[in-house]
Amino acid sequence: MLELDNIAAGYGKLQILHDMSLRVRPGELVSVVGANGAGKTTTLRVISGLISALSGAVTYEGEPLTGLRPHQIVRRGIVQVSEDRDLFGPMTVEENLVLGAWTRRGVRMTQELERIFELFPILAERRKQAAQSMSGGQQQMLAIGRALMAKPRLLMLDEPSTGLSPKLTWDVLKAVAAIRDTGVSVLLIEQNAAQALSISDRAYVLESGTIALEGPGKELAGDERVKKAYLGL
Ligand code: ATP
Repeated sequence: MLELDNIAAGYGKLQILHDMSLRVRPGELVSVVGANGAGKTTTLRVISGLISALSGAVTYEGEPLTGLRPHQIVRRGIVQVSEDRDLFGPMTVEENLVLGAWTRRGVRMTQELERIFELFPILAERRKQAAQSMSGGQQQMLAIGRALMAKPRLLMLDEPSTGLSPKLTWDVLKAVAAIRDTGVSVLLIEQNAAQALSISDRAYVLESGTIALEGPGKELAGDERVKKAYLGL
């Protein structure tokens, strides 16, 4: 469904990604784990069209994404939740969710909201509350819920565990696995390797802008190199 082939990318003269390749198949939950600064966020920026690759190809559903603007990529069905969540703080939970459907015409809003509330019951309870008055975990769920309102076929999450306790991280990651179970493909970027690998169908370890290892999530979690470098074992 999504293929990155031999991508080089960076900022000005600073090259961050070197010959980076990865793929996400339909219905898969794929993680990219790696240290701070390895290039995880840069990878998402290349896919969502925020920066252009210097070389290599990004292909989605058989067609190149090269040259498309970010909003065109959203319309193709790829939606990203960024690390800082980008919520409209003074607006209510429900208003934030409704904004997520901006790319869609003729949406039956009540039905769509119900779909999100089923996945995140806490958002139903807090629907009339200002987004900024919610806890970090609830805000992360809202950011993911808002992205789902755009009906993505591929959902990309940048470090959803940022600022969350291990317990809340689990809650969020379990919801991410449930989203995959509804048929949405997920590309998850996480520093929190242990938890990310445990829910992933497949995963990649990114080191200094290059894929160092790849494999089924559970297999990577058992890999000696991964254990030492990322799981603190
Ligand atoms: P983190 O967990 O810190 O977000 P990451 O793996 O997501 O790590 P990136 O955000 O992709 O890493 O950053 C990779 C490198 O690119 C870092 O050295 C960072 O300082 C640099 N970088 C990121 N954004 C920019 C930018 N807009 N301009 C210049 N350099 C940048």
